[in-house]
Amino acid sequence: MSSTDNASSDSYDVVVVGAGIIGLRQGYIWMVHKVPGSEKWELAKRSRELWEKFAEDVKNLGMDPQEVLGWKKTGSLLVGKTSQEMEVLKGKVEQLSKAGLKAQLLSSAELQEVEPALVIGEEGGAAFLPDDYQLDARRSVAYIEKENRKYATEGRYREYYNQPLTGLLSKKAIVIATGCWTGSLMQELIRDLDIAFDVPVKPRKGHLLVIENFSSFKLNHGLMEVGYVGHQKATRQPSAETLSVSMTATMDTSGNLVLGSSRQFVGFSTEISEHIINLIWERAGEFFPSLRELSLTDLEKTREVRVGLRPFMPGGKPMIGLVPGLSNVFLAAGHEGEGLSLALGTAEMVADMVLGNPPKVDNAPYALHAHCARVLSNYANNETASGFRLLRSHSGL
Ligand SMILES: Cc1cc2nc3c(=O)[nH]c(=O)nc-3n(C[C@H](O)[C@H](O)[C@H](O)COP(=O)(O)OP(=O)(O)OC[C@H]3O[C@@H](n4cnc5c(N)ncnc54)[C@H](O)[C@@H]3O)c2cc1C
Repeated sequence: MSSTDNASSDSYDVVVVGAGIIGLRQGYIWMVHKVPGSEKWELAKRSRELWEKFAEDVKNLGMDPQEVLGWKKTGSLLVGKTSQEMEVLKGKVEQLSKAGLKAQLLSSAELQEVEPALVIGEEGGAAFLPDDYQLDARRSVAYIEKENRKYATEGRYREYYNQPLTGLLSKKAIVIATGCWTGSLMQELIRDLDIAFDVPVKPRKGHLLVIENFSSFKLNHGLMEVGYVGHQKATRQPSAETLSVSMTATMDTSGNLVLGSSRQFVGFSTEISEHIINLIWERAGEFFPSLRELSLTDLEKTREVRVGLRPFMPGGKPMIGLVPGLSNVFLAAGHEGEGLSLALGTAEMVADMVLGNPPKVDNAPYALHAHCARVLSNYANNETASGFRLLRSHSGL
């Protein structure tokens, strides 16, 4: 976004607060567990298109997307073990094929051919999407940051750390993209205003177990068990009891085995739980029996545990749009376990809103009032209330 005054570093048009995709290094742009026709489908499809274009642009600039972004077309396998799960997978393949994606149902024997380490029994199989990708979130974010910083010399880009937002308020737009911290930040932002607005985002903790330079077997695709879909979608009221562990397994471009993943509501703690690591390991062992011959204790030196907080939003879809009652404050938060895969579609959606461009994807499902906004009557009918003036009335974020 352009600066309104090149001479002044504090006069940028747009301020983005947060903008993390903290990710956990390895991320997946998978469509295999998405539902055609669902509210998020178009955003997911558009996002994937934009990621593909992004990787292509990197390539056209003479770089290797695998090196720069950790970008790899591994394809994804949604794996089932029972005949009931196979029925689900069959329906999934039909649905995805109808929606125009390349999708194939693999029998147990066919699956064995493409992933020899996986053992799921005769009744099982998988939905296979050859065009799904994985990437390295940290490398991708580092590349985006590096490219953005090129605009700094023209006075069009700047990063601020530990600086209250109040110093940056004379802006055309402020985009709040602070993941699971968005609820408290919004409360602080509207503290002195006559607005009641709740962002019910909650941290949903997740563990990943990484075994470095893993040589016992190779994985050729990204894998997840069909139960993952239910775990991700669960929209129960957050409580500590809702711990779930479902198998995901991939191999990153450096040959590390990445096993996941857990979901639990335990506030903002990012402490490592050995109990959960053991559950992830045991669950993986149910799909890859050769892992049971290895002891996690013996792998102590080559293992790494990654913990992160997914921004969980009740209802299962992010909030993307203008904050009711404020004319220049936009929110983009609550992507739970899809923040990486939906990142570029979300960024485009917000940019179009700020610039007043027609949306590429219907943004109505993500509008804040469609979620839970409760705006006091004097603002409910006042779409033009100036966010700048209102925001100036309090002291900081
Ligand atoms: C185990 C695990 C596996 C995952 N796997 C995948 C995957 O395969 N694919 C996928 O798409 N997604 C995945 N995710 C989800 C993904 O990581 C999140 O959806 C994504 O990080 C959300 O991005 P975000 O930018 O909204 O929030 P975050 O990534 O949480 O970033 C928010 C940023 O805001 C900053 N911030 C907070 N408060 C303030 C403040 N007051 N001022 C300024 N900055 C502030 C924070 O420091 C942070 O950097 C996974 C998550 C976990 C935990």
